Amino acid sequence: MGVAFDSISFKASLCDGCGDCMTACSEAKSGASRISIVPGAKAGGYEAALCRQCGDPKCAQVCPSGALDKDGGNGVIGWDAAKCVDCLLCTAGCVYGGIAVDPNVSRVAKCDQCDGDPACVKVCPTGALEFRKAGSIFNEYGAKEDLFVPGLSGCQGCNSELIMRHAMRKIGRNSVLATPPGCIPGMGSVGYNGKTGTKVPVFHPLLTNTASMLSGIRRYYDRIGRKDIVVMALAGDGGTADCGFHAVSGAAERGEKVLYVCVDNEGYMNTGMQRSGTTPYGSWTSTTPVGEHMKGKTQDAKNLPLIMTAHKCRYVATASTGYMEDLYEKLDRAIEASFEGFSYLHIYSPCPTGWRIPSNKVIDACRMSVDSNFNPLWEYTNTTGLRFTHSPDNAYPITEYVKMIGKYRHLSPDQLAHIQAKVDEQVALLKLMAAESSPPPAAHRAPAGASTPAGAESSQPARREIARN
Ligand code: SF4
Ligand code: SF4
Repeated sequence: MGVAFDSISFKASLCDGCGDCMTACSEAKSGASRISIVPGAKAGGYEAALCRQCGDPKCAQVCPSGALDKDGGNGVIGWDAAKCVDCLLCTAGCVYGGIAVDPNVSRVAKCDQCDGDPACVKVCPTGALEFRKAGSIFNEYGAKEDLFVPGLSGCQGCNSELIMRHAMRKIGRNSVLATPPGCIPGMGSVGYNGKTGTKVPVFHPLLTNTASMLSGIRRYYDRIGRKDIVVMALAGDGGTADCGFHAVSGAAERGEKVLYVCVDNEGYMNTGMQRSGTTPYGSWTSTTPVGEHMKGKTQDAKNLPLIMTAHKCRYVATASTGYMEDLYEKLDRAIEASFEGFSYLHIYSPCPTGWRIPSNKVIDACRMSVDSNFNPLWEYTNTTGLRFTHSPDNAYPITEYVKMIGKYRHLSPDQLAHIQAKVDEQVALLKLMAAESSPPPAAHRAPAGASTPAGAESSQPARREIARN
């Protein structure tokens, strides 16, 4: 497997042009800022001129003296002052305006990503700059053992397969897995023709009793002194929110030491795309059709992760493969919490087949579902309460999310208004809970621009544009 690199991302829609990043960079580097915030193509908008640390850097290609070189370890294009002949050809070679010139010394000023702790990102008040660590995650976990055999029969682009392969890489072999009926066993994780598809002990309970069986397994391992085993479910939303809910609720109420992961693709997808309790209002499914008399589901989805907080679980969190760093951190905390009590992780999982989206747009849909607050990212513990892990402010309108997804293609203006109102209502409730919660430990602080407490003025500018960068 190749090597991936971390990088700084810039979201033009969140930048208010304050220039704090430039000030921080010049202070950190005692010279010219390596990042420039410049007026964008849209009136009132901004863009960032910043080194993208390109895989095939044109600056290095045009450099006549070999002063620029990509580091194979961290991916940063380094500049060697001793080799540089000050021709400034590199500044013309970079189409991103990514190489600055320090006017005081007339020499190149090159972004080095501050050794993985960028000064510009830390001061950005709106979250427009973000240090994306997906490269480190890929390097670290790509090398770990995949605990599912090759050849699982998921649909092309299946997000649930992505979740299960990543989650099990993280959790490792010291685990016992339950996969109740749904897409995950359906694609072969429980095996074919007597051969298991999973490299850890796996069982296939009924839709109704997953959490009860896991409770018994946990107690068995506790009795024989095996405290190191993660006892966990990878269950669909139907087996969690509907017919399995009584068992989930009971195990949570008893504080069973179980990790329960709900992979929510908003329906019974592998059996014909029927609606479930978490299918959102207005969705087309095979049991909530669109025609003359019906325009999709007529009820709102139940907010299952929020319901789980009412059980005072040890840990509850929402996550998305659109934000893998966040998902990995939550997996760490969810695993740890499962040795103390009931730990519940709700991962949103677009289904390309049932949602009518191209398989190459699944991750875009994941990100937009979070960025529009349709699926806000937060976590809860029974000691600290709730906190957002991704800013709920400056969200895209819900129309930007639903237009990506075929199951919402028929929505009327009234239905869209209903969905937006429900999303706003949900975020207001979460903000209220966050405002009433204790501050999280320093290591768990939300990123810049996260959660504005209810009733407080947002320090961030109002949403100005819809463009994605
Ligand atoms: S200014 Fe220096 S780094 Fe840039 S192209 Fe010329 S020699 Fe290379
Ligand atoms: S990462 Fe560091 S060097 Fe690069 S622009 Fe930001 S502050 Fe400047």
